[in-house]
Parts: sequence; C-alpha cells; structure tokens
Amino acid sequence: MAERKGKYPTEPLKCWEKAKKIREDYYRNYATAHERGGLRWAGGAWSFDAIPAGLGEDVYPLTSEPYGASCAYNKPFSLRCLEATEKAGYARDLCAYMRNYWGSILLNEYVFGGPFPKPDFLWQDHICCSHAKWYQVVSELEGGIPHFCIDVAVGPETEINENKIEYIVGQMHDGIEFLERVTGRKYRDDLLIKAVKNHFRSTSTWAKVCELNKNIPAPLDEKTMYSLYVLGTLHKSSQVVADFYEELYKEVKDRVERGIAAIPNERCRVMSDTQPPWGFLGVFRYLEKFGCVSIGSLYTFGLIGAWEVDENGEWVHRKTPMERGVTINDRDSALRALAEWELHKPEWQHFYSPQLKSEMMIRIARQWKLNGVMLHYNRGCEGLSLGIAENRLALLKAGFPVMIFEGNMGDEREFDMTRTMSRIDAFMETLGMKKEFD
Ligand code: SF4
Repeated sequence: MAERKGKYPTEPLKCWEKAKKIREDYYRNYATAHERGGLRWAGGAWSFDAIPAGLGEDVYPLTSEPYGASCAYNKPFSLRCLEATEKAGYARDLCAYMRNYWGSILLNEYVFGGPFPKPDFLWQDHICCSHAKWYQVVSELEGGIPHFCIDVAVGPETEINENKIEYIVGQMHDGIEFLERVTGRKYRDDLLIKAVKNHFRSTSTWAKVCELNKNIPAPLDEKTMYSLYVLGTLHKSSQVVADFYEELYKEVKDRVERGIAAIPNERCRVMSDTQPPWGFLGVFRYLEKFGCVSIGSLYTFGLIGAWEVDENGEWVHRKTPMERGVTINDRDSALRALAEWELHKPEWQHFYSPQLKSEMMIRIARQWKLNGVMLHYNRGCEGLSLGIAENRLALLKAGFPVMIFEGNMGDEREFDMTRTMSRIDAFMETLGMKKEFD
C-alpha cells in the first residue's frame, strides 16, 4: 500500500528561483550582448573562461555542452537539430551535444528563441577528441570565426610536472595575444585575476555542497543538483556564480542541520554516472517511489567541482589557492594557478585510464554510503563513457551492485524509457526495495 507520510521533512530550496534567474540572464545576456556594444564568445564548459574575462566586463560566453543539453531537453527542437546535422553529412555516432549544437546553427535557431547568435570568437580547450573539432566546424559553418584552442591533454594529476604546467601556461599567454588581436581590445590583468579567483571559489564551493550529501538523509537529490551544477558549467569564473554557490552552501548546510531531506522516504542511496538522458529526467522521480535517492555521481560532483584526498583518505573539496596562501598578483601567477588547479579536475583524469575513474567512483560509493550504482552506457558521449564497462567490473568487485542502462544524453531516438523503468524495477528488487511511495 502506498505510504503517504514521509519519515523525513522536505522543503523546496530557497535559492531555487535565483538559480533559474542566473541561467536565464546568462542566455539572454549572451544573445543581446551586441546591443550593448559587448562581445560574444563560444567555447566548451571546460574552457578557461576566466581568460576572456580580461577583455572587459561586457564579454559574454555561450558554453557548448549546457547549450547542447538545453536543445536535448526540448525534444521536438532537438530532433530537428539532429536531423539537420545528419542531412549536412555528419555521422550519427558523434557527440550528441555537438550534433544538437551544430543543428541549431544549421537551422539558424537559438533554442531560447530568435536566430542563433553568432559568436565573435571561439575559445576552447581540448581533452576529448570532439573538443577542437567541434569548434573547427562551428567556425566553418559561420563563415570563418577566429578560433583558439588550448591542448590540456598532458596526463593525469599523478604525473603533473613543471614542464606540463609550462606547456599549458605558454598556450594561455599565446591565447591572450590572440584575444587582443581578434577583438582589438587591450587586455586587463586585474579582471583576469578577479575571474581566476572566482573560478577557484565556484569550483571548490560546489564540491563543498556535494560533500554535504554524505549525510543521511541526503539534503539534495541528483535531479535537483543538475539545475545547480549547471551554473558552474555556464560561467564558473563569474562573480554571480561564485557568490551563488556560497549562498547555496549555507542553505544546504542549514538543511543538514535541520534534517531536511531531498526525498521524504530515503532508505536506499545510489549514484549514477555520466550525463543523464536529458529529455527523460523522470527516471529520477521514479526512483523515489522505491524510497531511493540518487545522491549525485562522479559526473555531477567532478565535472566542475574541485576535489582532493585528505590525510584520512576522504574525498573532500579542494582548498583554493587563496586558502593555501598562494600569491596571485599578475598575469603569469594567475594563469599558472589556473592551469595547475584544472589539471586536478576529476573528470579529466579518466581520459587516461578507466582505473582512475573506478578509484574515484568506489571512493564515492563508500564515503557517500551507497547501496548500488546506476551506470548510463551513454552513446552520446564517448569522452565520459570511455571505459565504463571496466568501471562496472571494478564496482562489482568492490562489492557494489550495479545496474546498467543504455541511452544517449542528447539523442532521444537512442533511449527507451519503458525498458529503463523495467531495469530499475529489477534492480530495486535485487536491492530488496519495493515500490511503496507515491
Ligand atoms: S566529453 Fe562527451 S560531451 Fe564533451 S565533447 Fe566529448 S563526447 Fe561531447
């Protein structure tokens, strides 16, 4: 029989509307930048967005992956984008975000309304095989937009050395010369330093928020977290995002202290992996019927969050360079601190070995006290799905039950909701969970 009263109190997040507004302002400000004499640039969610910030306070980015996800969420629009890309001759097994994004350009339609707002320059970095190529095509489709890409694929954090940092910092310096040349603007190091410090604050604080989900009951569920982590993928170096995450942290900490839960009947905890099928987030609400909460994932925690292992072996938020007493007072020290910081990004590590990803996942499964893991065999993202079957084996060996489901984060033609629900039913049965809650 369906249970009505939850064992934990729940309440909506107070800062929810603010998060929505930041996202709306971001996409509107980008589209209307030229009306105010400002600049527009496009690049990946992992690009060093603090660097173009030195061009002035009227410079607005459009990051590609969240934009692709917004297209995917709008299923009819996404289908038209994907078909336009295929018609133009691009293969259907390429990155699904990239195909949505290219389709939006080919159709000349911005998913938020109006024509696609053409960027003034492209600013990207490259670790996934799609990154530089994504913007090479964007440049070609838009008639030759200036494009700069930084190669960050220098190896995992365990092998960082001075030469590798120097290699990235050298490209960043070249990139600033590129930015000055293509925009005709004089670069301001004071704005760079401010943006770099905001970047550290945003990424460290997001990890602090995720750490709070170690608590039982979890104060946040993964579906809610998607609407919050996205701000870091949009503009992690902006003051508004860094300040918002600090406000969010205070609110989530308060939820923990008052015992406010994400779902009222938590009795089972899982995590997912890689991007979800964005058009089908109802999967997470379905879990709640079993009293199951997805507390996040390596993806949700580590795409933007900055982490480190403390002296007790716990995965905790990474202390900012400012907290460590690192001096950041000129262009070179800012770029160096930024390069070094980003080389520790969790989601960059497993491009080099599935074992590195398995270690992080097992650490989360233990420290966030999970009952099981749901792995999305995501055909839309070869970057983050790389080695995922190896991760499954490692998780099983570590004693965690694993459910897999196939799908695609940005191509609804490759996701079967009914079949996925059936798999969840079977998985929940193996975990001893019944569908008992409304
Ligand atoms: S990591 Fe995934 S989403 Fe990002 S560019 Fe590569 S394939 Fe696309």
